[in-house]
Amino acid sequence: MSVESLLIEQARLSDLRRELKSEGCDEAAKCTRRALDSINGDAIPHLLMGSSCIEAAYSDYKDAMEECYEFGDSVSFEDVWEEFAPCEHCQNVGSLKRQRMQAGRQLGGVRAAITRAGRRLAKEQTA
Ligand SMILES: [Zn+2]
Repeated sequence: MSVESLLIEQARLSDLRRELKSEGCDEAAKCTRRALDSINGDAIPHLLMGSSCIEAAYSDYKDAMEECYEFGDSVSFEDVWEEFAPCEHCQNVGSLKRQRMQAGRQLGGVRAAITRAGRRLAKEQTA
């Protein structure tokens, strides 16, 4: 891959990651569980709002961990998450996060390739 196409790919992946993050924030804000806990649907400060599915599932996970610890067992967050039946928005948050992590890994690969290309160019200049 040419340095130019690496730079284009880097810009594309950076933008993609930013878009996925902002989509994830939008979805997180739409959590139906959180909305149910809000007071008469009025806009109330974030801190006073109910837990999102993700927060509630995480709290269940911590409880399950403590229980498992007593029995010398183990549990993963994914196990709890699947049993939890999160709302569609929180499921979207999860899938957007996975896509963001994948884009992040690709971005890491592109950056490493740019660094290698930079070293090669530096060598050529001194030669
Ligand atoms: Zn939710």
